[in-house]
Amino acid sequence: MSDLFHRKDPSTRRLAAIDSVVVIGLGRFGRSLALELVASGTEVLGIDCDGRLVQELSTELTHCVQADSTSEDALRQLGVQEFDRAVVAIGSHIEASLLTASLLKTLGVGQVWAKAISEAHGRILEQLGISHVVYPEHEMGRRVAHLVKGRMLDFIQFEPDYAMVKTLPPEGLLGIPLSESRIRRQHGVTVVGVKKPDQAFTHATGETVLEEGDTIIISGVPRAVERYSELR
Ligand code: ATP
Repeated sequence: MSDLFHRKDPSTRRLAAIDSVVVIGLGRFGRSLALELVASGTEVLGIDCDGRLVQELSTELTHCVQADSTSEDALRQLGVQEFDRAVVAIGSHIEASLLTASLLKTLGVGQVWAKAISEAHGRILEQLGISHVVYPEHEMGRRVAHLVKGRMLDFIQFEPDYAMVKTLPPEGLLGIPLSESRIRRQHGVTVVGVKKPDQAFTHATGETVLEEGDTIIISGVPRAVERYSELR
């Protein structure tokens, strides 16, 4: 078993006991996700059937193992059942994605995230009981479309009817306290954060007065925040 590990430190059981995540599939999405988790202090067991990828990431991840995640025996030997959180980052190999997700449920992993590359793929993952299905390409495409269209500096949609946008304040919002701007009544959006040049974001309050060069975060229904960020 131990020869599967590309790092000398051995036990995934010990790894599973602390803040840790299994990432299965180390393609572009899985790799970025795993590296980001490691950078933020989480221990990661990365699994991929491609030995070249495993070799490449062996010094970057806490543990990196070459294995076929559609094999229940392989997952059990790696101690995957000991983890509370796992991500299935396999996209185009839909059969492998579904088999892996289903095995993780069988093994009793509490929180499973899975990447879907189509609505049908996502629906089947949900039917398997995967509660966190993400559509990275679809979601990024929508987000970039919003950025391309307007003056938005960033766009995040949490629910169909709630989004947040980073943008520049239009002229009419400058020089008066937000409580006097009637922005919520007239435009249906709320300023939630403000950033002065070279400073960090802070919460906006009724007394906040915006100036040229400030950046704001607004929230509201997507159409409203979109329209508001078009104003000059
Ligand atoms: P990307 O994140 O690069 O867009 P993708 O959506 O095209 O990836 P796939 O190519 O299907 O997804 O898989 C991503 C990774 O998962 C690949 O590195 C692949 O080797 C790995 N993978 C696929 N099937 C299995 C499996 N059965 N066991 C382990 N790893 C697998």
